[in-house]
Amino acid sequence: MRIRFLFLTLCLIGATTAFAQRLPTNVTPEHYTLWFAPDLEHETFRGRETIAVNIAAPTSTITLNAAEITFGEVTIDSGGHTSTAKVTLNEKDETATFTTSSPLAKGPATIQITYTGILNGQLRGFYLSKANGRKYAVSQMEATDARRAFPSFDEPSFKATFAVTLMVDAKDTAISNGRQVSDTPGPEPGKHTIVFAPTPKMSSYLVALLVGDFVCRSGAAGNTPIRVCATPDKQALTAFAVTAAEQEVKFFNEYFKIPYPYEKLDIIGVPDFSAGAMENAGAITFRERMLLADEKTASVGLRKSVASVIAHELAHQWFGDLVTMKWWDDIWLNEGFATWAANKPLAAWKPEWHMDVNVATEKQTALGLDVLRSTRAIHTTVNTPAEINEVFDPIAYEKTGSVLSMVESFVGPEKFRAGVSSYLSKYSLGNAAGEDFWNEVTRVTEKPVNRIMKSFVDQPGAPLLTTKTKCVNGQTEVAITQSRFIGDPGSPKTAQHWTLPVCVKTGANPGVCTVVTEESETIRVPGCGAAMVNAGGVGYYLTEYEPAAVMELARRTPALTAPEKISLLGDEWRMARSGKHDVGVYLDLAAAWARDTTPEVAGEIASRLSSVRADIADAAQRPAFDAWVRKQFRPALDAIGMTARPGDTDEINSLRGTLLEVLSGDPEVQKRARELVERYFDQPSSLAPTLVSPMLQVAAAGGDAALYERYLAKMKASVATPEEYYRYFNALAIFPTPELRQRTIEFALSDEVRTQDTSLLLAQLLTTAGSEDAAWAYIKSHWTTVVAKVGGFMGMPTLANALGASCSAEKSADIKAFFDAHPVPDAARTLQQTYERIATCTAVDARQSAAFAKWLAAQ
Ligand SMILES: [Zn+2]
Repeated sequence: MRIRFLFLTLCLIGATTAFAQRLPTNVTPEHYTLWFAPDLEHETFRGRETIAVNIAAPTSTITLNAAEITFGEVTIDSGGHTSTAKVTLNEKDETATFTTSSPLAKGPATIQITYTGILNGQLRGFYLSKANGRKYAVSQMEATDARRAFPSFDEPSFKATFAVTLMVDAKDTAISNGRQVSDTPGPEPGKHTIVFAPTPKMSSYLVALLVGDFVCRSGAAGNTPIRVCATPDKQALTAFAVTAAEQEVKFFNEYFKIPYPYEKLDIIGVPDFSAGAMENAGAITFRERMLLADEKTASVGLRKSVASVIAHELAHQWFGDLVTMKWWDDIWLNEGFATWAANKPLAAWKPEWHMDVNVATEKQTALGLDVLRSTRAIHTTVNTPAEINEVFDPIAYEKTGSVLSMVESFVGPEKFRAGVSSYLSKYSLGNAAGEDFWNEVTRVTEKPVNRIMKSFVDQPGAPLLTTKTKCVNGQTEVAITQSRFIGDPGSPKTAQHWTLPVCVKTGANPGVCTVVTEESETIRVPGCGAAMVNAGGVGYYLTEYEPAAVMELARRTPALTAPEKISLLGDEWRMARSGKHDVGVYLDLAAAWARDTTPEVAGEIASRLSSVRADIADAAQRPAFDAWVRKQFRPALDAIGMTARPGDTDEINSLRGTLLEVLSGDPEVQKRARELVERYFDQPSSLAPTLVSPMLQVAAAGGDAALYERYLAKMKASVATPEEYYRYFNALAIFPTPELRQRTIEFALSDEVRTQDTSLLLAQLLTTAGSEDAAWAYIKSHWTTVVAKVGGFMGMPTLANALGASCSAEKSADIKAFFDAHPVPDAARTLQQTYERIATCTAVDARQSAAFAKWLAAQ
């Protein structure tokens, strides 16, 4: 599954692990025959199901999962006779137990079930979606919601084959995991019945059901037919996704040395969808805005995102679908691998996208969470659905992906690929745990991958290397000490160490790589000069340099690579946040790279400068700080101009967009942006697609009620083009006046905003200075509505995480008092992280305010 945007979460402290809600293992499913008849008008469905099971020892009870299911008759065939079972429901554990009057024999049996269910509005299980004045029935089973669509052994290790049949309205079509094998009228009046081929063995969370008037565009990769499908009004926006999927399937077939495991590939844009996308075997589902792109007007950001999320879901067809984790405590085996693998086909297909830079920014996303005391280890015990849903976090995705990139770099890409391919072959159609992966890669590569992986998977947090360098007889000696990095200023040193590949380079030297295992070691590198203690930038650790060494690295020749710059900027930002260095060291580094032309380097600096402004600068210091920002960054923008010139690359336009963001508070830039936006309203081709969103945002930052009205009207007129719709949608939270902010807050919870988008807009308001307090007050006073609109998958963690942008101890106490009185089990860990983030921020302010004042006075 692909979670929406940057989302930072995580702590076991105080979390109740309840008792394990696991099914007994004496009865295991082999094959499901599933028949569904959705009734869109009444928002219900009928189901008939046969499950072929194997019984390990005689028993008179079979327990499986079911939720919001109304059972009709249940019969069980075993040992040559049929018995009717009594059904006992356990709502809390989401199980149903079938009891027979005499024991069922050891060996094969079949369970026949008739039942009804509801097409819910909660975006989970078999649910209702609406668009263009009509209803659709669609599904999202991961993690624990297949049980809402059909009674099932709904745990990832109970793999089985699934044969699906759907009876739907004559004018509609249906899509499922298998290839369509027949389509016949009836049997009920006004209906037709579509039968799909049985799937290979897979887990229940991968079943897909889609019903409506979807239309598809076709393509192919080798023998695999590919379709990208959407509601009829959006068919024109599916061509780019077809091309991307074709390229990527071909790439992965070659890379994994295992052909795409399913008979066909469908990718479907769904109007209401909780996550970003979902890797259902052979039937990947998507949030529309992450799939649909107008080839003529799509920004480079959207094209990258579409290609990248398709690659993520395609990688899952091997990592997750073909080989599945045994239990959700190893969700990193799915999500970390898909995060890591998604960069590969893009790097091959679009070298100009510089995916190595993307790898570097993913590491920073992971560290944003992993520097907290309340982070979690990659492997974390989970039992309840709430606990399972909450581990879809940057630890499972970006941290694991970053650790895999580090290990790949250490053993060499070709050897690592061979290890990965061997692991996938060995566990095809089965399940695996973490040690199965690293043992196989260790065997194939003959490198200590097991020890490195184990030290990162079992231990929480990020390593800190504290370094001292000296030049001795023409070589550099780097003395390093390992500990765990904690972002809270003044926190005591946390003894913890890892088996860690470290690469160091000096001057033009390509670098020396070694595996550090002890708490303190010395690394010797030929040559003297500024030593980069994370050569390549892929090491998953933070480096504490002596402050003078930081500027030497900034000015060294040859310059650091873009991934190394992003790595050093991240390190130095965290040295400031943790109080190890004065914030001026970071700001001087930022100034040294203000003219850097890599958009992601500028983006990394932009987000930190806004934190300095919001959390460290006080109101009286902001004008001087803003002037400093303008002095550093205006020349970079003036050099390339605010609008595209003939021949500008995507990268230059991305840089221009980022610089506009940095300078969004500059009144001159705002005024010019407003003029350009007014022209864009009348003449959409007047702005390069990549610049539309940043320009709308800068104009909004200086905007008035008249402009707000134009944005609302334009947004409503753009429903058929998701990118254009969300360009306006995302800008609404940026308008400066309290009245317009309040309108956006109320709009977020209105029926005009889809449930899938409410938590995102609220999160944006909660993280924007000026609307954060008003948004929080409104959320508290409309809590029942908030729960109804954001209570599904990831909604509450998204809100809880956004509250962590605050920097006030008083507000933290208020948030805690509120959630103590209104518990949200699926955000329990996230709230602990939020309290820690706020406490860290207030401590940073106290630690850095004098240092900041001194630095500012010196500018
Ligand atoms: Zn995923």
